[in-house]
Formats: sequence, structure tokens, C-alpha cells
Amino acid sequence: FLSQIPYAQPDPIFELTAEYNRDGSTKKVNLGQGAYRDENGMPWVLKSVIQAKRAIEGSGHEYLPILGLEDFRKGCTKLLFGEESPIVLENRVGSSQSISGTGSLHLVAIFLANYYSTTHKVFIPDPTWNNHRAIFEGAGFDVQLYSYFDSHHMALYFERLQEDLLRCPEGSIVVLHACAHNPTGIDPSFEQWKKIGKIVKDKHLFPIFDAAYLGFNSGSIDTDCWAIRYFFHDLNLTGAVCMSFSKNMGLYGERVGCVQIITNTFDEAKNVESILSKLQRSEVSNPPAYGARLATAIFSSKEYMQQWKIDLRTMSCRINTMRKLLVDNLRKHNAPGSWVHVIDQNGMFGFLGLTETEVKDLRLDHHIYMAANSRISIAGLNEANVEYVAQCITSVVSK
Ligand code: PMP
Repeated sequence: FLSQIPYAQPDPIFELTAEYNRDGSTKKVNLGQGAYRDENGMPWVLKSVIQAKRAIEGSGHEYLPILGLEDFRKGCTKLLFGEESPIVLENRVGSSQSISGTGSLHLVAIFLANYYSTTHKVFIPDPTWNNHRAIFEGAGFDVQLYSYFDSHHMALYFERLQEDLLRCPEGSIVVLHACAHNPTGIDPSFEQWKKIGKIVKDKHLFPIFDAAYLGFNSGSIDTDCWAIRYFFHDLNLTGAVCMSFSKNMGLYGERVGCVQIITNTFDEAKNVESILSKLQRSEVSNPPAYGARLATAIFSSKEYMQQWKIDLRTMSCRINTMRKLLVDNLRKHNAPGSWVHVIDQNGMFGFLGLTETEVKDLRLDHHIYMAANSRISIAGLNEANVEYVAQCITSVVSK
């Protein structure tokens, strides 16, 4: 049968990084992968993480429990909802540590496939992170799109989004980006979230919040949890939150994440957790320890938490400064258009609205690497390269 195995195309973003690494030009700029870079273009280890590393020295290499570190899981729930939330006080969350955000989505997908049935459709935004489709189709679901982006106005297509969600069969599963939508950087306003929440409630949809960028919109986890709190706290809905600490703690390679399934009662949560444990056992047996210990050390210390908040502001402020600087430079070089959409976008990415040919020209002629849909990781910009990038974008769009 091996002779019948087809060749699967490599993941475009990881492939782009490999191509960037092979490029020998001194001018090259990597705006592809969503990984934070400091003002010198270097990976950044958060100060709070450096403190946590010292605190957990000598913690050894024993297995964690199947569901992961309990203090980590509880810390994640408190982070999402706050210590005083009834969801926390009534222990209504079934949780499991996961292999970062991806593993968290996968665990929820197999949980739903096994215990909610794949006859329910999964709705994901158009566009979205390309792994969403792969994860839910891989678990056996029929995956459909709901409208999200109006490419004409470079804005949220809210009317169509509402229409599409209203058309979902009752009980469907809907994937929502908690904040910093990838790739567009466009999130619903609070008022729009309220309308989405009403549809989710009226149609008994099962919401899954993909929370990979908490803290990247505003620099504050509390603010960026607004939609999650509104759904589960104010509307009293049940659903799931898939948390990742890749970006907001810079723990990309440590694979730190958590699944939170918000239920109606303590007993439901206990049963859900028992199933998560059963599923996790046959998938990874038990999750990795190091990164979860770092995150737990941060959650458990007032001082480190304070530092983490500063670190989040450091990252989000630098990204916002670069966002503005890019647009200032585009305008300075008279790039056609207002580029106001780039300023209005949130989170780690900018969605430029270039054609695939323009993206290709930037890569081949100017050594500037970005996703084919012209999503750029703003953190790849710095004082030394932003003018060059703006000049080159101007040149390809003015051709
Ligand atoms: N969801 C979204 C929307 C993402 O952009 C990412 C990372 N690119 C993830 C989830 C998961 O990332 P990780 O597995 O590294 O936590």
C-alpha cells in the first residue's frame, strides 16, 4: 500500500519560514510566521518567563497526571473568568492541559466527535487559521464556512455573518476567535458579540472559542476575555475555550495549552473531565511538563503575574507602534490607498489586501516573506526594516 500513498503538500507557513531561512540576502524580512520578535528582530523570552524559569529549577522530569498540572488548569480557569466568577466558585469547568492551542482544539474535536456526534456540522469563519478545517475534518466532521470578511471594505461582514449563523442547523458547532482574529485582525465589537451570543443561544449552537492571542489586542487578558465572559458568564452558555500560551507567554516550542469545557453543573464538569482524561490517555498519555510549570509559576506569584502584565503590554505596544509606522511609511511613499484598515486591525497580524502576485513579487524581488493571502506578522517589523518594507510594498502595488 505504501506505493499508493499520495504526497501531501507541506504546510505553507512552515514552508515559507524554511524558504526564508534559505534566502542569503541581507535585506530579507520575515513577516510570515506569527511569532513575536523584539525591536532587533530577535525572538524574545518574556521577563516573567525568565523569573519563572528560576523558580522551577530542579523540578525534575517525572510524568504529569493525564490531565496535566491541576494548578495550571485551575489557574487557566481563573484567568478566563476571574476568581469570583460563579463558573469558578461552582466548579463548572471540565479542563485538561493540552499540546498547546492546536492540541486543545484537537481534544475538543475528538470529545465532540465521540460524545456529541459528527452529524453536527462545524462552522468556521471565512477566512480562518487553516488548521481549523484540518482539525475538525480530521475528527470526522463536515466543516462549513460562515461569512466573516468583506474584502471590498476590508472589514467585518457582519450582516452576512449573522445571516449565516442564523442559517446553521440547530445544535451546530461554531468556532469563534476570542480576539485578534487570524488572519484578518478584525474582531466583532462588543455590540456585535452580543448579537452573535444571542444567535448562539437561540439556536443552541455549541461555541468553541479559539483563544490563542489573549492579551495581544489590548495588552490585558481581562479585556481580551470580554467575549468569552459575555458568553459563559452573562449568557450562561455552555461551550469550550481552547487556550494557548504560545504567543502570550512566548512559549511556542513548549506546547502549553488548556481545554476548558464550561458546563451547567459540577457533576457535568466532573464527567466531562473524566472523558477528557480518557481521550488524552490514548492520544499523548500525559502532557509535557516544563512549559506548564512555567505558566503555573507565573499564575501563582503576584510578582510574576505583575511582570507578565508588563510583558504583554511590551509586546502589544510594540506591535501597535509598528502598525502605525508601517502605515506612516506607506503614506510617505504615496502607496495608493489609505491603509487605514491596517491601523484598525487588532492583534499580532496585519491583513494588507495585496494580490497573490504582489505577495510573490515581494518575496522574489525584494526578499520580503508573508503568507499568500498578504497576512503579515507585524512583530517582524522594526525600526531598521519598516521603511524598506513600505517602499517595496509601494513599488509592487504601483506597478
Ligand atoms: N489558533 C489560532 C487562530 C492560531 O493562529 C494558532 C497559532 N498559529 C493556534 C490556534 C495554535 O497555536 P499553538 O498550537 O502554537 O498554540
